[in-house]
Amino acid sequence: MEPDTAPPDCSPVTPHVTLYGEFTAAGNRRVRYAVSLTEQELVVQRLSSAPVPWNKVLLRLEDCVGSRAHCGDDSDPAAYFTAYFYPLKKRWVGSGSSRQRVEQCFRLAALQDPRCNLEEADKWARAVRERSARKHGPRDGLLMSEPLHRHTLVLVNPQSGRGQALSLYNSHIQRMLQEAGLPHSLLITERQNHARELVRDLNLAQWDTLVIMSGDGLLFEVINGLLERPDWWEAIRMPLAILPGGSGNALAASVHHYSGSSPVSSEELLVSCGFLLCKGLVSRMDLVSIHLSSGARVFSFLSLAWGFVADVDIESEKYRHVGAARFTVGTLVRLACLRVYRGRLSYLLPSLDNRIDQNGVQNTPLPASSLYSFPHENCSPISEHNSCHSNNSVKVTRRLANLSPSGPVDSLLPPLDHPVPNNWVVVPQEEFVLMLAMYQSHLAEDLFAAPDSTLDDGLIHLFYVKAGISRAALLRLFLAMEKGAHLTSNCPHLVHVKVRALRLEPQSPKGIITVDGEVVEYGPVQAEVHRGLARLITG
Ligand code: ADP
Ligand code: MG
Repeated sequence: MEPDTAPPDCSPVTPHVTLYGEFTAAGNRRVRYAVSLTEQELVVQRLSSAPVPWNKVLLRLEDCVGSRAHCGDDSDPAAYFTAYFYPLKKRWVGSGSSRQRVEQCFRLAALQDPRCNLEEADKWARAVRERSARKHGPRDGLLMSEPLHRHTLVLVNPQSGRGQALSLYNSHIQRMLQEAGLPHSLLITERQNHARELVRDLNLAQWDTLVIMSGDGLLFEVINGLLERPDWWEAIRMPLAILPGGSGNALAASVHHYSGSSPVSSEELLVSCGFLLCKGLVSRMDLVSIHLSSGARVFSFLSLAWGFVADVDIESEKYRHVGAARFTVGTLVRLACLRVYRGRLSYLLPSLDNRIDQNGVQNTPLPASSLYSFPHENCSPISEHNSCHSNNSVKVTRRLANLSPSGPVDSLLPPLDHPVPNNWVVVPQEEFVLMLAMYQSHLAEDLFAAPDSTLDDGLIHLFYVKAGISRAALLRLFLAMEKGAHLTSNCPHLVHVKVRALRLEPQSPKGIITVDGEVVEYGPVQAEVHRGLARLITG
């Protein structure tokens, strides 16, 4: 620290100050600061002989992603200590707040020996890092309260969204991970299912976190790849993180919402999710096992949709150049030719699931020794699914043909060609406008579809809209969904029920079913939730 030339405006020594020092600004040696570090804050006070009203800045350590010490060039004996903050700040335009980057860099040149300056700078950097690593007690669903010391694999889909994921990585994420001191490797996917195949064979011991920078589709691949491994039980415990780089960033929007921040979109959402990744708190996330008519099983972290929502999702693929707004455009187009879909829907209520223990907690998935076996072992490989929507704009998902029997046992589901058990509820209507099963809060950045869903509530939030709803009423529902107000809008056609398992048997000859926004084969499907099966970095 450099010798005092001006006294601080107030006594810097308060009982909770753990470090105090006086530094110069990195870019202007005539500007001097008194800096105090407490358990919660870095307090930066500009030193001046004349009182300046705005001379004190409080930076909360919970907003800090990292800090480092470094030396100057050869002619400069000084050392520097820099801390990186992402505090929530009010927006210049509109309402609400978003995380904005603040870098604080201080120069230390009090000592002759450059090594001593560097040691002092390093002491500050370490103290800031230790206090900004969140140490406040674990919260619900939290597995670890300390950040991981990890090597991170970042998977980027260069085709997602408007094709910007890679440039967003370059402009934001690379720097944030550096600031947080997280070594990482980048893998750019080359084609659909590249990531799925990669994680099936990946040596997971090398990695502490898998980061998915894309829309929801790439995470769908990664989760299914992990659960296709013989060691799926270990593999699915790999902490995952989502960074929004696609046009459908529903999980990213949900994670942001769970962190308690006001709604944001686009790059602000990316910075928020990048910040949460740097903080590295791991929570459990529900996964839903979905049986398709061929006997194949897929795992889903977000949604199962049929009817209006599935049609919009897939038909709006052609508007992906407008980014997240593609769903708004798609909704308006589909409203103009509203359809009715025939089918039978049935579900199991949580109160009737006898696997729930007395604390209301669902039994955890069974260990690897009791492997799931498919109802139709000799199911034929599902190659390219084209359904009746041969239209080129329809997203086609290639299902992996030879799924090994892995993943947890589905104890609630009978074979798909057997009737549902007597304790299931069969919905009396057979004509619908949509069926949407969700397990996270957001269906898209601006569709707050399941407001009371949490990451690991062990619930499928089932919504259906009965036929007979007018176009205007359906439009009102979607507009209300932006704020999550659709459930309190008293729409008589909308039903919301929380379930553990469900079955849908479509009777209309044509249609689209999506899982996490990806097309799956059209036909009967059934689903069961596995509480907290996966791990996700959250706030
Ligand atoms: P978006 O939200 O923009 O649709 P997704 O992450 O959902 O972004 O990706 C869209 C689709 O692209 C998914 O089906 C995913 O499996 C697939 N995909 C992943 N990597 C690539 C790639 N390199 N080229 C083409 N498609 C890819
Ligand atoms: Mg949930």
